[in-house]
Amino acid sequence: MNNIIVLATSNENKVKELRALLKDVAVDIRCLKDFGPMPEAVEDGTTFEENAYKKALHYARILGLPALADDSGLSVDALDGAPGVYSARYSGEKASDWDNCEKLLREMEGRSNRAARFECVLSLAVPHGPALTWEGRCEGRITEQRRGETGFGYDPVFLYEDFGRTFAEVSMEEKSQVSHRGRAMREFAAEIDRVLTWLNQRMSEIKPPKPDHAE
Ligand code: IMP
Repeated sequence: MNNIIVLATSNENKVKELRALLKDVAVDIRCLKDFGPMPEAVEDGTTFEENAYKKALHYARILGLPALADDSGLSVDALDGAPGVYSARYSGEKASDWDNCEKLLREMEGRSNRAARFECVLSLAVPHGPALTWEGRCEGRITEQRRGETGFGYDPVFLYEDFGRTFAEVSMEEKSQVSHRGRAMREFAAEIDRVLTWLNQRMSEIKPPKPDHAE
């Protein structure tokens, strides 16, 4: 069980990105698919941090291993921070990315303040509860119309001003240089030696179960 961290996602791109960042470090990154079916975490927190921790702890407890989860979303100033933690289901429970972008563009019609940011919180939890947290942000503006074909979620309506393009008009590599998730993951990766020391100490606090015949 040496230096295993389970990335609490089935998203292959996130796993690839993290493995690339940690390529020179002796850490074994696994993903949920490596372990077969499990009950999903309930994401009913009111902040990205709460939801990231809930997810990380849920999978750490089930697997008995350190788990790293991320929660992210878009906060728009003119909409008092919406869609925020509801980003994935802004236009309904089974909302598509397309529908969410359409709803956002409608809500933003006629508004001059178009400032917005993507936020990402990473939480690394061990099965008995302690956790570490990293955050990343990326400032931008909401466009008047969708632009570009790459990416996912709100990428076609999020203008990154230094690029003069939306996140759906740039490559995944360009996006992750500046994105909320890229920033949070790079911070995590930069601290990995200290993180591994912390993890080894926390995991050694977990007592093995007593055998049946023990007093
Ligand atoms: P999750 O935390 O990866 O589940 O993301 C929650 C929701 O936030 C997604 O469904 C997207 O709608 C939105 N979101 C998070 N990160 C991004 C991004 O990098 N681009 C576009 N949308 C994003």
